[in-house]
Amino acid sequence: PLPLDVEAIRADFPILSRTVRDGKPLVYLDSGATSQKPRAVLDAERDFYETCNAAVHRGAHQLAEEATDRYEHARRTIGAFIGAPEREIVFTKNTTEGINLVAYALSNAATAKEEQFRRYAVGQGDEIVVTEMEHHANLVPWQQLCERTGATLRWLGLTDDGRLDLSDLHTVVNERTKLVAVTQQSNLLGTVNPLEPIVARAREVGALVLVDGAQSVPHQPVDVTELGADFLVFSGHKMLGPSGIGVLWGRYEVLDALPPFLTGGSMIEVVRMEGSTFMPPPQRFEAGVPMTAQAIGLAAAVEYLQALGMDAVEEHEKALTAYALERLAEIPGVTVIGPPDTVARGGAVSFTVEGIHPHDVGQVLDDRGVQVRVGHHCAWPVIRRFGVPATTRATFYVHTGYDDIDALADGVRAAQQFFGVAPQDPAEVN
Ligand code: PMP
Repeated sequence: PLPLDVEAIRADFPILSRTVRDGKPLVYLDSGATSQKPRAVLDAERDFYETCNAAVHRGAHQLAEEATDRYEHARRTIGAFIGAPEREIVFTKNTTEGINLVAYALSNAATAKEEQFRRYAVGQGDEIVVTEMEHHANLVPWQQLCERTGATLRWLGLTDDGRLDLSDLHTVVNERTKLVAVTQQSNLLGTVNPLEPIVARAREVGALVLVDGAQSVPHQPVDVTELGADFLVFSGHKMLGPSGIGVLWGRYEVLDALPPFLTGGSMIEVVRMEGSTFMPPPQRFEAGVPMTAQAIGLAAAVEYLQALGMDAVEEHEKALTAYALERLAEIPGVTVIGPPDTVARGGAVSFTVEGIHPHDVGQVLDDRGVQVRVGHHCAWPVIRRFGVPATTRATFYVHTGYDDIDALADGVRAAQQFFGVAPQDPAEVN
């Protein structure tokens, strides 16, 4: 049996009762791209609009007060979920915006007129370290930061089984390193990275650490006090919450030393025609009217996950991943890209099928109601590293059951039949 009660959970997700492709039950194996939403999240957003919609942090009227209370309550709920005080929680649009916020703050720091904002300035001769398994969201902003500032981008490579190669950690992360940006879980390989040695080395050389939690915070317990990093970024839409809301957690003293990224209303202290001063974090980083209903929806998602228990969520996905690896291993011609076991691995299972392009695999699966992602998964360097054109990727969540994985395995076999590439199963020959 699985750790979570899949049937009961499915009943909470209205979309899971629909059918696709002429009446086929929906088998949703694409939570890694975006997750479906339980009724509690949809209700929380609707309730906000129906009962107290107003622009937060402005106006003295009752609706504005209630809206602000709910928004700030959401900040506390989400902070508590990752072990952080509310003043360290910055609401963003998504993970991508959180990473850009930090990257622009670091380059703006070099030219900030306020002395307090120059502490973490990145410039010529400095180095930024990433890894070869990063999503483009945690790679391109750092490439761009390097182009703006004259800093150099360096990276940690991968082993053949899809883990970080830490053998040159001590040379790649060195006295010139200003920041290390690393994902906690790979969206393509499923790898769960050992962050301790990376954080320890960064501390030794005085570098900041940013953890991309887009695929970890939704799927495993994450506590920033244990992480030891300076920044953690994640997206609401991947953790049962609404789209358009994400979180940047930052260690307060680091956030407080950073200049703003976006500027305008809601983030200023005093504005004169000659210049302006800015509020302390988190307001300094939340210019304009924020995504209020979305933040409230995300808090409802967090409460839903907390009620299930993040340990149970992690165990659930581990069991599903083990089963998926086993079922796919039974199919000749299928190769999983990424760690072959569940020791340090989350539930992103990417694979290729010999003789069939991943897009064709995806199409046959889709015809059967099985929704997976195909392509480069916004991680081209990983695709290149493993010498494949693309992969088919299945990802799991709280409503996923063994039956979904059976549907995936049956669909892959059906694709092999359809394209006439089913290799002879050695078990059947004997
Ligand atoms: N990092 C990782 C590991 C991801 O999986 C994703 C989303 N696929 C992102 C960053 C970017 O998230 P978003 O598109 O929500 O900004």
